Amino acid sequence: MSLITEERTAVKSAVIEQMKEKGHEEVLFCNDAATGLRCIIAVHDTTLGPALGGTRMWPYATEADALEDVLRLSRGMTYKSALAGLDLGGGKAVIIGDARKDKTEAMFRRFGRFVDSLNGRYITAEDVGMTTTEMVNIRKETNNVVGLPVNMGGSGDPSPVTAYGVFCGLKAAAKTAFGTDDLAKRKVAVQGAGNVGRSLVGRLLKEGAAVYLTDIHEDKLAAVKAEHPGVQLVKPDEVIGLDVDIYSPCALGATINDDTLPKLKCSVIAGAANNQLANEERHGKALMEKGILYAPDFLINAGGIINCAWERLGYNREAALAQTEGIYNTALAIFKRSKEENIPTYLAANQAAEQRIRSVRQAGLSF
Ligand code: NAD
Repeated sequence: MSLITEERTAVKSAVIEQMKEKGHEEVLFCNDAATGLRCIIAVHDTTLGPALGGTRMWPYATEADALEDVLRLSRGMTYKSALAGLDLGGGKAVIIGDARKDKTEAMFRRFGRFVDSLNGRYITAEDVGMTTTEMVNIRKETNNVVGLPVNMGGSGDPSPVTAYGVFCGLKAAAKTAFGTDDLAKRKVAVQGAGNVGRSLVGRLLKEGAAVYLTDIHEDKLAAVKAEHPGVQLVKPDEVIGLDVDIYSPCALGATINDDTLPKLKCSVIAGAANNQLANEERHGKALMEKGILYAPDFLINAGGIINCAWERLGYNREAALAQTEGIYNTALAIFKRSKEENIPTYLAANQAAEQRIRSVRQAGLSF
């Protein structure tokens, strides 16, 4: 394996600085000329168990962008699993490439070998740009993959379970912000018509909500509209400023940033996308000051990881959904803690996760 970047020195020092800052245990780079695989795996924390987190395929503009993403995402997984009560640590992988045209069997088999080289410290699954087809190819080279198809004994695509968890968390946020979790007639803007967004739209419409949906790909929008004719389509640049009750980011991260914050008209933010706050501290605080209730992404999008955790135990869909439903009560408790301590919701969630990790570490029970 060799370092993939042209600016090796700059990236190396960036890696070490960021690892120190965020507490990562291990970061690995892979460059395989034969298959065109360029990827990074980050293992953030394995106190609670092996680092489980999906693989994202995205055409990152630079390798530094890919690195930043994987470091943030892997840390988020540590907090997500800790809050969800899972015996798993946090890790993530990113593959630099266009998921629409760059995928080959050989690439994902090579990636599988790379995952295998971590001897079970990292377990992969689907994330943006991935499907069960890639998981099957990865499985040819390693046991350390979940999200396999049901006919292979797997749990299938975790997205519908993620969407269910987001829906439960969104309802808990509505209960806290509006005094009722009844979504009938609430206006909800969903950004991203992908695997999670599509499933979430169906649940929201069934509850009687008015749902506005956007995506950068027309074909994705058309597919959701065909499945759910009640959904109202909007342009990608319109979604942030829509006059809605709830904004649900289900595309990529950092959509809450210096540019978008002043334009937000919603009372609640509750969506699936990882790392929604461009700057957790600054934007988390700003949302609180603006009176917008933010449901931390890693708190309410844990359905997928819960589903994956059940695949390792022996898959049981009912049990996975029941555990995912627990996100409703966990979210209510975090919102309560945030209010009582007058701290942003992201911080209340971080503190709860850190408390669990610390207590396991201090008791000498680390993985
Ligand atoms: P996906 O790739 O199926 O869908 C993402 C969609 O967002 C795509 O249709 C894409 O075209 C669209 N998109 C990208 N940029 C956009 C923009 N600027 N404006 C509007 N649309 C845009 O991914 P997914 O599996 O649905 O996941 C969505 C988000 O939820 C991701 O951030 C992912 O990390 C997160 N998440 C997913 C799961 C899961 O189980 N799939 C679990 C936890 C978190």
